[in-house]
Formats: sequence, C-alpha cells, structure tokens
Amino acid sequence: MFNFHDQGRFVPYTCTQCDEAWCLHACPVDAISLDAATGAKIVSDAVCVGCKVCTIACPFGTINYNQSTGKVMKCDLCEGDPECAKACPTDAITFVDANWTGLEKMRSWAAKTDSAVQAGA
Ligand code: SF4
Ligand code: SF4
Repeated sequence: MFNFHDQGRFVPYTCTQCDEAWCLHACPVDAISLDAATGAKIVSDAVCVGCKVCTIACPFGTINYNQSTGKVMKCDLCEGDPECAKACPTDAITFVDANWTGLEKMRSWAAKTDSAVQAGA
C-alpha cells in the first residue's frame, strides 16, 4: 500500500507477478527470484544494491525504491496469504488462483445472459 499524503490517498498497487517478470530479468545482480510455491517474485535485501533498474523495467510501477533502506520493495504475496486481501473491508482486493483469474467475469456475464433469457421468455 502506498500513501500519497499530500493528496490524502491510499492506493493499493498490485504486482501481477508476471511470468516473464521484467523486474527479475532486469536486475544486474540477480536479487529478484521466483518463489516456486506462490509464484511471487521476491527481492533479496541482502543482494539488492539499490540501483533502481527494476523500477524502470516494471511497466506497472509496482516495485519501488525505499530511501530509508536503500533497497527496493514489492509485493511478495505474504507467503501465499496476502494481508491486503484479508484487510480490505469491501472485498475490492481478492486473491484468486492464477489459473482462474477470469472466472468471476465469466460468472457475471453468464448471470446477465440468464437475466436476458428470462426477460425474453
Ligand atoms: S514488479 Fe512489475 S515487472 Fe516485476 S513481477 Fe511485478 S508487475 Fe511484473
Ligand atoms: S534495485 Fe535491487 S532488485 Fe532492483 S535491479 Fe537494482 S539490485 Fe536488482
């Protein structure tokens, strides 16, 4: 979660954990690795030298430099149980199986089709 204090905004930036992660491939010291269990791309603070190349490589702005640590930070999926999804009171953030990311949209369109059929009956 990133806070834009001057604008009074709190914005969740969700890393898509790209299969071919730009951040991971761009890192010159291999500080970003794949967590095979969760699919998360993980930054090793011990290896990261704070060069910020990954922040340029990520097209979504979801990996950011932390001036106080001199390292970058990104979503690590909280070991497969993301705190953001648990904390969201309106279920605006959900954590779903990567194989089924389009399922809810399919369900919603199917429900609309049902309504249209019933209205025409
Ligand atoms: S930080 Fe960006 S490039 Fe890296 S996995 Fe996440 S969305 Fe992809
Ligand atoms: S800031 Fe760290 S993780 Fe990002 S490219 Fe540089 S060394 Fe790699």
